[in-house]
Amino acid sequence: MEAVKVVIIGSGPAGYTAAIYSSRAQLKPVLFAGPKAGGQLMLTAEIENFPGFKEGINGPDLMIQMMEQAQRFGTVLKDDFVTAVDFSVRPFKIWTTVPEGVIPEDLLIQSPPEKYTEVRQQIIQTEPTMTAESVLIATGATALMLKVPGEEKLIGKGVSTCAVCDAAFYKDKVTYVIGGGDSAMEDSLALTKFAKSVTIVHRRDAFKASKIMQERVLSNPKVNVLWNSAVDAILGDTKVTGIKVTTNGTTQELPAEGIFVAIGHKPVTQLFANQIQLDDHGYIVTRQSLSKLGVEAAQAALTPDGKLEYPTMTSVQGVFAAGDNVDIRYRQAITAAGQGCAAALDVERWLEMKT
Ligand code: NDP
Repeated sequence: MEAVKVVIIGSGPAGYTAAIYSSRAQLKPVLFAGPKAGGQLMLTAEIENFPGFKEGINGPDLMIQMMEQAQRFGTVLKDDFVTAVDFSVRPFKIWTTVPEGVIPEDLLIQSPPEKYTEVRQQIIQTEPTMTAESVLIATGATALMLKVPGEEKLIGKGVSTCAVCDAAFYKDKVTYVIGGGDSAMEDSLALTKFAKSVTIVHRRDAFKASKIMQERVLSNPKVNVLWNSAVDAILGDTKVTGIKVTTNGTTQELPAEGIFVAIGHKPVTQLFANQIQLDDHGYIVTRQSLSKLGVEAAQAALTPDGKLEYPTMTSVQGVFAAGDNVDIRYRQAITAAGQGCAAALDVERWLEMKT
């Protein structure tokens, strides 16, 4: 069984940035990328707000550059899914074992927690794949999708899950935002700066978003709302051309050029339940989490002279987290990359100091 100093789980901007820093610090990190390396940006056509690329860069190209940069300094890349971890004792144990008939992606992202717990029992009976002195979790989050016809096919071709990233591509276009939470409000406001019109499709007769965000959105003349409405399909062949919506039993097909799905995100953290502290929504709690739990963790970790040590550390000493699996607020490639850098520096320092 291989024993290493640092294992990084996840291959989005947080994971690769952490790998660049850890490998330059000669920690020889092993990064488990999963078979579909690259994370959410692999679904993004063009990125114009990642510093350093003044003409923009497409998502997959950016991720390949990050991956190769990490490899250049000695990161060992594995295309396996991590299927179980044991953080109860150090060195930590990591498994990539896949029981027969199990599809890891379905197990770790889609399945109910009870199903995973059952399969985990089988996995941990087998020999661990690797042990690690420290683990950096950068498994990210997945945007929840409507799962209606046309949606999957048109992702990146008019269907987006991030208006902050993509709104500028919808200048003078007819756009729709689906959802009634703060993300939907934020996406709608971002779109009003560019789009010809923004129609919010919401399944209830009231938003759940904060009052202040609702007021901003509803007072904007570019915004309309279809209340009590469900999306039946997204129309178009090679790009979005319309949306099929049912409102109070009446179905209509409306022309559309951009559809922004803003119905929430799910952090990819099932693997770590019962191993480290997660919040009610499954986000990993670190000492810099933007929540009460994060504040409590930070307070408990203050040194006698009032400094916060290892802000990216989770509830388990030696396990760190960065990126969208921690971040309930910003969820940008550049913020994830920044957090990956911070976590790698924390790992390096923790390994130097630990007894
Ligand atoms: P939320 O879970 O708050 O809202 C999701 C919305 O999508 C709800 O209105 C929900 O409907 C709707 N929805 C869920 N599933 C479906 C579906 N299958 N079909 C149609 N509609 C659906 O997620 P958000 O991403 O908006 O926010 C998550 C957290 O992040 C919140 O705590 C929020 O406050 C925070 N946030 C904060 C921001 C800020 O402070 N700037 C910006 C963005 C988010 P229903 O109302 O019926 O449940």
